[in-house]
Formats: sequence, C-alpha cells, structure tokens
Amino acid sequence: MVRINDIVDEILKYNPQADVEILQKAYVFSAQAHKGQTRLSGEPYLIHPLEVAHTLTRMNLDVPSVVSGLLHDTLEDSYVSKEEIEKYFGNEIAELVDGVTKISKIPLKTSEESRVENFRKMILAMSKDIRVILVKLADRYHNMQTLNFLSPEKQIEIAKETIEIYAPLAHRLGIEWMKEELEDTSFKYLKPADYRVIADKIARKKKERDEYISEVIGVLKERFEQFHLNAEISGRAKRLYSIYRKMTHESLNIDDIYDIIAFRVVVNSIKECYEALGIVHAFFKPIPGKFSDYIALPKANMYQSLHTKIIGPYGEKIEIQIRTHEMHKIAEEGIAAHWKYKEGKMFDAKEDKIFAWLRRIIEWQQELKDNKEFMEVFKIDLFSDEVYVFTPKGDVRDLPKGATPIDFAYAIHSELGHRCVGAKVNGKLVPLRYILKSGDSVEILTNPTHKPSKDWLNSVVTSKAKTKIRQWIKTEQREQSIELGRALLDKEMAKHDKSIAKLLKSGELQAISKDFSLETVEDLFASVGYGLYTPLQVLGKIIPESEKPSKLKTLISSFKKGRDSAIKVQGIDGLVVRFAKCCNPIPGDKIFGFITRGRGLTIHVADCPNVHTYDEQRQVEVSWQTNKDFTYPVRLKIVGSDRKGLLSDISSIMASNKANIISAQAMTYPDRSAAGMYEIEIGNMSQLQKIIKSIQKIKGVRSVERIRGTV
Ligand code: MN
Repeated sequence: MVRINDIVDEILKYNPQADVEILQKAYVFSAQAHKGQTRLSGEPYLIHPLEVAHTLTRMNLDVPSVVSGLLHDTLEDSYVSKEEIEKYFGNEIAELVDGVTKISKIPLKTSEESRVENFRKMILAMSKDIRVILVKLADRYHNMQTLNFLSPEKQIEIAKETIEIYAPLAHRLGIEWMKEELEDTSFKYLKPADYRVIADKIARKKKERDEYISEVIGVLKERFEQFHLNAEISGRAKRLYSIYRKMTHESLNIDDIYDIIAFRVVVNSIKECYEALGIVHAFFKPIPGKFSDYIALPKANMYQSLHTKIIGPYGEKIEIQIRTHEMHKIAEEGIAAHWKYKEGKMFDAKEDKIFAWLRRIIEWQQELKDNKEFMEVFKIDLFSDEVYVFTPKGDVRDLPKGATPIDFAYAIHSELGHRCVGAKVNGKLVPLRYILKSGDSVEILTNPTHKPSKDWLNSVVTSKAKTKIRQWIKTEQREQSIELGRALLDKEMAKHDKSIAKLLKSGELQAISKDFSLETVEDLFASVGYGLYTPLQVLGKIIPESEKPSKLKTLISSFKKGRDSAIKVQGIDGLVVRFAKCCNPIPGDKIFGFITRGRGLTIHVADCPNVHTYDEQRQVEVSWQTNKDFTYPVRLKIVGSDRKGLLSDISSIMASNKANIISAQAMTYPDRSAAGMYEIEIGNMSQLQKIIKSIQKIKGVRSVERIRGTV
C-alpha cells in the first residue's frame, strides 16, 4: 500500500523544492472526507486517492496535480464543496478538482460516430488545463487495476471506454507505459479467452525466449564494440494486446517466439542512432520496406526512433528500435518528459513543446474526422464554432457559438425552454441574452406559468430553440383562431337557425371543411378566425340562395338587433383580437369587429371612416366585456390660455381620475394660447367623460377634444 510519505519522497526526487506541507494537508483532508468509506474491494477508500496521487508522481507532475489526485473524489463522493477546497487549497487546486469531477461526468459513448465527439470533449478539457486529463488518466489507471470487484456488465463497460478513449489519449500524450497497461487490462476483461491463451503461451516460452534474447543482445553488443559505439541493448516480449492486434490484423504466428520480441538500442546522440543502424544493416540483412525513420519524421505524439527489421542468426525476423536516451524518455513518459521545475514550480507547462503537443493531438483529431470544414475552423481557433457548457449536474452540452441560456434550456427540454424566465451562469444571475462561454455552468430558472416570447427568436441561435419557439407561437395563435372562428360561425349560424353542434352531428361541417380542402373542422374554425374565410362563405355552402343577404345592412341596425349575441371582446391585445390604431376604441364606444385577412379580428369604433362598410361580410358584431384591469389608450387635445400651472392642473385631474398619462406634448402660440396633446390610458367611457368634464371646468381651458387616429 502506498503511503503519503512515499508520495512526498517521489515528488522531492524530481522537484526538490516542492511544497510538501500542502500534500500532508491534502492527505488529512482527503482522509477526513472519505472517512468510513470503503471501496468495493473492502479496502478503505483512502487507498484510491493515494494510488492516484502516486501515479501522478510517476508522471513527474507538479504539487497542485498531485494534491488534486488526493482530493479528486472528494467533491463527488463526500460532503465537501468546491468552495471549501478553494478555501483550504486555493483556486488552482479547486479548479483542477472541479475539472476532474466534471470530466468524469462527461457521458462518453463508445459508438464509432460519437468517438470523435468524446475526444473533442476531452481535448476541450485539456485545452484549459492538461493536468485535468492527467489526473483523470491516473484515476482510470487505478480503477482498471481494481476492476475485478465490479459486476461483469460494469467491467465490460469501463474496459470498453478505457480501450477506446483513455488508452488512445495516453498514447497521444506519449505516456506509453500507461497506454500499454490500460490496453492490456481492458483486453483481459473484453476478450478473456483470447487473453488467457496468449498469456499462457507467452509464459510457457519464457525460458526459451530469454535465452534467445540474450544471444541476440550478445551478437549486437559485439558488433557495436568493434565500432566503439556505446549502446544499451534490451529485448522484451511485446505486450499482450499488441500481440493480439497483430494476430488479428497481420498474420502473426504466436507459436513463433521471434515474432513477438522487440529489441531496443539506446545511444547518446542522433548521429549514433544512424551509426548503429548502419552497423546493424552491415551485419544482418535488412528486410526491404521495413525501415522507418521516425527521427526525421516524428510521430504525432512526438515519438522518435529508427525502426528496422532484419534477418537474424536463424533466419528469423528481428524488430529493432534505435533511439537516443532523450527520445527514450519521451517514448516512455511522453508529455511528462517536458515538465521542468524551478523553485518548486512547473515553469514550462505552457512552453512551446507542450503546445506543440496539443496541436498535434488536434491534428490527430482531424485525421479521425475527415471533414474539411472542421479543419478550417480548427486553423482559426480552437473550438471557435462551439461552446461546451455544463448542466447543474455536470453533464456537458455543446452548443454553437453565440448560444444563450434560452438555447441551453431548449437543448435540455422544450418545456424547460418554454418556462424559462432567467438563468444563472457560474452561480450569478445573467440576462437571457447572455452569450455562453465554454466551461460555463448554466442553471435555468423557471416559472410554471411563463410563456415563450416572440423576442426570443432574436436571442437564440440553435435551430431547436427557433423551431420550438415558432411552434409554440403558432399553436398559441391557432388556438385563439379556432376559438374566434368557432364563435363567429356560431353567431352567423344562429341567424339561419343552425348550430355548430347540429352541423357536426349531421356531418355537414366535416363536408364543408373538405370543400375548402381543409382536413379537419378545427382547421375550418381556424381559417375563419384567422380571416381566411368569412362565416358567410362557410354558411353559403349549406343555406339556400334566398337566405343569403343581398343588401348592405347598416351597422347601427345590426347593433340594435344583435347586441346580446355579440362576441365579447376581452381586453387582450392578443394575436387575434386587436384594437384599431385609427380610432382607438374604448369601452362605451359603439364598436364592431372587422376581419382582416391574415390578421384576425380588429376592433373599430362604429363610425370609423377608415373601414369600408361595403365589405359587410367581413364585419362582425362585437360588444365590450368589462374588465376593470384593462386600460385603453385615448388621445385628448386640450386648448387653453398659456397660464402658469395649467399643465399641472390638467395632470392632477387625470391622476385623481386614475388615468395614466402615456405621453404629453405642449405647444404655446404667440397669441398666448396653449395646446396640449395628451395620450392617456383609461378603463372605460364613463371615466373618460368624467375626466373631460373636469378638465373643461379648469380655469383657462377653452376646449377638450378626443382625437381619433394618429396626430
Ligand atoms: Mn477516483
């Protein structure tokens, strides 16, 4: 079992000035947080963070990373909060631990298409701080070692994720030992039978193989010494998973011991690498086409070596890798080989080499997804086309650039979008127009009675949000249209002794709908309510010619006749019923409705000159439904003498009559008269009459006039 002192010792080896006090503190903190918790193995939970921290020292990581390794499960599995970690260990470590916690929650899918996505998410996390991924890799490394305590289903799931995502990541970061270990353990759980066969055979031939290896090393050593070349030579059996892959992809014969061995020659300089190669090729016949120069052309993960295949002493094929010590260090440790410490701090985390590494990983991503457009975007900016944000539960959502909390809400659920009234980003309230940034944690505030607004269409970029908002508006509009259309038809039918109910029963309404090429009766109502057809056009299909009105009826008479059957106008300036701007009707005015094509019902005063009364079919009888909470705009022109205090007298009368002044314009003329144009909001006619009478009594007022239309 790893102890905290082992970890401290390891760090001091590569970073002698490391702040070890904070490590002890983190150890105690983690021990307290996980107190009483056990792993499925039955061991105390604390063993896990200790192992993770220890693995991080193997990667020569800095103190904050190792501390994060010790704390990495405290946010998830205990009562500890990010604020607490920040309080005790500072912002850097709190962010790291939070990053690891979030990345653990990224839903990774193992299907082929989503693999690219997974990598993009991982790389996003890296682009912010590569250490987050390294801590996560160390976490996965230990979890793989203790996988046998999990259920078989879970084992397969985790092993699959590891071999498809984490092992390639370790490989791309050049951490070869970790990649190999992750692959082999995953392989063990994914293909247990194949794993056992290969492991058995390798074990059985160990003695034979070791003898052969030392023989080849002896021969090579001799040749190198002849040329005074100082080289370290080693040979080893390939890893199980790499043998398995070769067995399935190439025709590797596992019974042939030579095929599974790789030799390695490590020298001091690049010059010596080529010298060693020359010596090898001079004494052993090289196999054509099997030489690769990864020194001149390094692999994407910065791996450098010369690879060659030769015919050995028994006519067997031998694989040899030749590299310098430095290349060897990079081949084994990868990105970690570049960390350097100065006064206890990792000083080149952002140095060119690390960045080059990240760039190469991104290039590799492009290989994965052969998409030119995608590459273009990458050239300009990392993830410039997308932002990645977190849900309160830590799930990742990717949204296009420019997305707002409304887009986010709709991305989660349409209902969440419809009910959204506000948003918190990283715990702070933001306007709904706020542009989300990668890494933002977004929380949507809702109100169950809230409805989407048309303005939202200007603040969303995702097609899902746009479609849902439009759909909602359409449905809402349609419902109102259906209601109005039904009422209009019902009223018209009453005049002809018919009713909707009866016509529905007889199937006549259904037939009429078909006649208008409409699918349902509801569509018919909606069309009438929307002003596409008049009630008479509909009725014309079923009433005898003689009953059809042939003469214009005056509005006044129609009011006298049908006041009670009039459609009630609710005080809503909704989508269907609107008040004409030309005459500004107010309750108490004689009014009628006029159906405007595509705009629904507009309410005008009975004598409004703007309405062409000959279009009788479009006129609808309406009456006021009193609603004291609703107000209507009215314009008043007041002319009087230009005396001091006149305006304030007028205003106070309006106020005392509870009329709200929307706007007021005053003009004075050379003859010392003054005119004021007031736009006020009133509830009904009697209130207006009262106001007009009171104003007329004010000293100096000559006339008060209600103005129709715009002035
Ligand atoms: Mn863990």
